Amino acid sequence: MAMALLGRAGNMLTTLPEESDLIFVTTCTFLKDARRELLRRYDVLKRFGKRILFFGCAADQETATEIRGLKDVLFVGASCLNSLPDLIRRKEGLFSGKKDFLYSHPRVLSTFPHAYLKLSEGCSNFCSYCTIPFIRGRYRERSPDSVLREARQIADMGIREIVLVSHDLAGYTEMESLLKKIAGIKSDFWIRLLYLHPAHIKRSLLTLIKNEKKILPYFDIPVQHISDPVLARMRRKTTEKNIYALFERIKKEIPEAILRTTLLTGFPGETEKDFSKLIRFAGDLEFDYLGVFAYSREYPAAAASFPGQVSGKTKQERKKKLLRFQEKIVLKKNRRWLNKTVRTLALKKNRCRTWFQAPEIDGETAVEGRLLKPGNFYKLRITFARGYELAAE
Ligand code: SF4
Repeated sequence: MAMALLGRAGNMLTTLPEESDLIFVTTCTFLKDARRELLRRYDVLKRFGKRILFFGCAADQETATEIRGLKDVLFVGASCLNSLPDLIRRKEGLFSGKKDFLYSHPRVLSTFPHAYLKLSEGCSNFCSYCTIPFIRGRYRERSPDSVLREARQIADMGIREIVLVSHDLAGYTEMESLLKKIAGIKSDFWIRLLYLHPAHIKRSLLTLIKNEKKILPYFDIPVQHISDPVLARMRRKTTEKNIYALFERIKKEIPEAILRTTLLTGFPGETEKDFSKLIRFAGDLEFDYLGVFAYSREYPAAAASFPGQVSGKTKQERKKKLLRFQEKIVLKKNRRWLNKTVRTLALKKNRCRTWFQAPEIDGETAVEGRLLKPGNFYKLRITFARGYELAAE
């Protein structure tokens, strides 16, 4: 969107910093690690001697003081998107206290053959560990018409995978009717849903995913924990019983479903018993993909002030233990693909993504013995599967 707006205002876009007058950086400052990474990128980029603009979270997160203290950077908040071309012309930054921005703009696509399509901004769930509601503001939805218009636009541009995203995708009010309309667009593409809050997934959504061929049976459901006392302190609005029931229903109704989740280790007050439950849960569900994060103490999220903060060492040890446990599951599980013919989307002549690999997070598949046309769909046979490493022909 920012690129499209800047392009329309007469700016030339380039991916080469040395050719540019201004280096535009979309920022994520959600966690300490992301802020450290952004500072590292800043150190690299400033060597080009160009003006640098940080767009998005770095401007919107008041507590990211180590970033906002950078004197030679222009900051523009996400809410100020419409003013971006003007601000750049005037060499000014703009913070905005307002968190009411909701876009409906033309796009420049830089991720072919997939494109992200955002349904909403912000979040009102206020999970106690999370700063998103403070950075992005409360949840507000785009209208179904606005989303559908954009879906048609990106389908017309030849996009083969539309990835629906939101901080709370399952919370979108008219989710099912919107999905049906997007699936009805006359073009060949997949639809993938990312970030489904476990407390907001309706039975009717599962039925739709089961019956609508264009929607991939790929379930990205971040549960964060399974122990009830921890879930309650996290303010996740769900319980161990409900989470197990949800996954059992998915597995029963859609046996080919791919399951992805993220788990948090070392949340304040997490005991060894809570952690053992987490390990058992990972073993019971045998997730296809599992992201594990050590809890990061982020103000002004409520949990930053909770008693019982767990030491950094313990958080990391638990994270490593969970990841090692998952490695064994993946080694065993992914062998099931060997010699199976699966639907894939070509990325390069010799690379593709299978339908069960989400862009940017699940890796890619190497292709041997034939040349593919990027952006085309192929049915390929998996010839090698070791952990997350796959090859096909
Ligand atoms: S639902 Fe997700 S984005 Fe919203 S507060 Fe909870 S963790 Fe943060």
